[in-house]
Amino acid sequence: MENDHRVVVLGAGYTGMMTAIRLARRTRRADVRITLVNASERFTERLRMHQLAAGRHLADHRIPDLLAGTGISFVRGMATAIDPDGRTVVVDDGATTLDYDALVYALGSSADTSRVPGADVHAFTLDSPRTAASFATRLGEIAATGGSVTVCGSGLTGVEAATEIAEAHPGLNVTLVGLDEPGAMMGAKARAHLHRALDRLGVTAKVGARVTKVLPDAVELETGEVLASDACLWTAGVTASSLAADAGIAVDERGLILVDATLRSVSHPGVHAVGDAAAVRMPWGRIHGTCQSGLPTAQYTADTIARLLRGRPVRPFRFGYVHQPVSLGRRDAVIQFTHADDTPRRAYLKGRVAVRYKETVSASPVKVYRLSKRMNVSVTFFKGGRATRDRARRTLFGTPGSSSGLEV
Ligand SMILES: Cc1cc2nc3c(=O)[nH]c(=O)nc-3n(C[C@H](O)[C@H](O)[C@H](O)COP(=O)(O)OP(=O)(O)OC[C@H]3O[C@@H](n4cnc5c(N)ncnc54)[C@H](O)[C@@H]3O)c2cc1C
Repeated sequence: MENDHRVVVLGAGYTGMMTAIRLARRTRRADVRITLVNASERFTERLRMHQLAAGRHLADHRIPDLLAGTGISFVRGMATAIDPDGRTVVVDDGATTLDYDALVYALGSSADTSRVPGADVHAFTLDSPRTAASFATRLGEIAATGGSVTVCGSGLTGVEAATEIAEAHPGLNVTLVGLDEPGAMMGAKARAHLHRALDRLGVTAKVGARVTKVLPDAVELETGEVLASDACLWTAGVTASSLAADAGIAVDERGLILVDATLRSVSHPGVHAVGDAAAVRMPWGRIHGTCQSGLPTAQYTADTIARLLRGRPVRPFRFGYVHQPVSLGRRDAVIQFTHADDTPRRAYLKGRVAVRYKETVSASPVKVYRLSKRMNVSVTFFKGGRATRDRARRTLFGTPGSSSGLEV
């Protein structure tokens, strides 16, 4: 084992926290210094941002409290530059410079408000507790007069937000606008339940509608239709931080770091990428950004760094989806169980049992962090079975510096 190995983890969201805490546990008897950098001291439960946006109260988890006893150094600040050749990270425009031997890039993603004029100025997002809370304040202002709210983006985040808002503020007119049918990726029965919930809560769904402009008091559609809107929430698509691309680290067209089968940057193997910020491919296709897939990338990366430090071989990352859990307000939910590639199985849950399931999913990361300080807790429920097994059988990877896989 090398002496005094420095690992810097950028981003203390779901995956950065998981990587740092698990790595600290796995290297507790080794001379490894882990530094975790995050923009805020508060741990953002992004899975619950729609709850906050609808005016619900959330627990306030502080990152230093969650890290207590791990030996991890926490740096509160914005990472503003990476030098992957010199192996340094600049925080807060030069106030701090951190040297590293291994970098874990876990900066997540944020709502992409750049593609439609006006969205960056007039639309709210679920990117942080601050933006979600300011949307909640706006809802409070317009709820009394029965105002109109437009949720742009008919993916699962948009569905969760629209139903949560409609349930919390029954006097508001809530419209969900998007290109795809809400629940399009689900099986027919789960999707039908989702649509019944939208109807019950009075959410109007405008399907096949492309938003072309966001105005202070309206949303314009490609068809020329103008929807009066006192508040607009943007959930249509995400974008990645430009930090990796600015540093010359190879990224895809979305700005996600291109990784090899061990989740290391294809251009800079000293950089590991996890969660929403990593472009991860499985034999069945591209992983899309979810906590469900992100936590296993974090677990894998912590284990990989620990194994590489011990000079042990590493197997390729494997992952398969299990479910699509969707809240429909606080009193209803639908869980679609899936195949490894996220296509729907027949089984699904709805109603109270689905609400409990969804709450268990949302609450589990913080519980896992607490437990992971004392034991190795797995967050990888399914490695994809046969769909990902063949590649794993073929390839075994060597120690740091050996960029090529060793065929076995
Ligand atoms: C409303 C909502 C509901 C969702 N529901 C589900 C669900 O049910 N199931 C599911 O699997 N997924 C869900 N997701 C997606 C899930 O939240 C993301 O996939 C997950 O948060 C990704 O984790 P991450 O660690 O990659 O990024 P994040 O959790 O976004 O963490 C990134 C961290 O990096 C910090 N950061 C960013 N830039 C910098 C910088 N330059 N310097 C310092 N710090 C920085 C951020 O402040 C943040 O703390 C949902 C998302 C939303 C918005």
